[in-house]
Amino acid sequence: MDCIFCKIIKGEIPSYTVYEDQIVKVFLDINPDTNGHLLIIPKKHCLGLAEIDDNTLLHVMKIARKMETLLKEKLKIDGLTLIQNNGSVQEVKHYHLHLKPHYNEKNVIKPVDEIYNMLIN
Ligand code: AMP
Ligand code: ZN
Repeated sequence: MDCIFCKIIKGEIPSYTVYEDQIVKVFLDINPDTNGHLLIIPKKHCLGLAEIDDNTLLHVMKIARKMETLLKEKLKIDGLTLIQNNGSVQEVKHYHLHLKPHYNEKNVIKPVDEIYNMLIN
């Protein structure tokens, strides 16, 4: 199957991974809307909200909460929006939850590798 996120999981495409376990992988979006824009994906391929199994969905949300703590600590975010696109508005056809930080102060978009270093150190 020609799925870009499955290739990321297999390590065939590089990613700025900030967290992973047996069920999910979390990495920085390559085209971030804001600094620290993360994607949480299940390691087992599935399409969207209708297809993801309950246990995996719950785990994704638990990790979202963990990542919020990380973003607060490392990037001093002021707010966080969770978005998960389905159907015609879903570009990559492998379930992914967007975590988009908000900042009270105007925040110029920094290179992804710079944000990655801030998150992992
Ligand atoms: P959507 O399917 O509309 O929810 O959005 C797909 C998201 O995946 C976009 O925000 C892209 O910037 C992001 N994306 C696509 N390819 C990659 C990649 N190789 N690494 C990280 N993020 C990606
Ligand atoms: Zn996939």
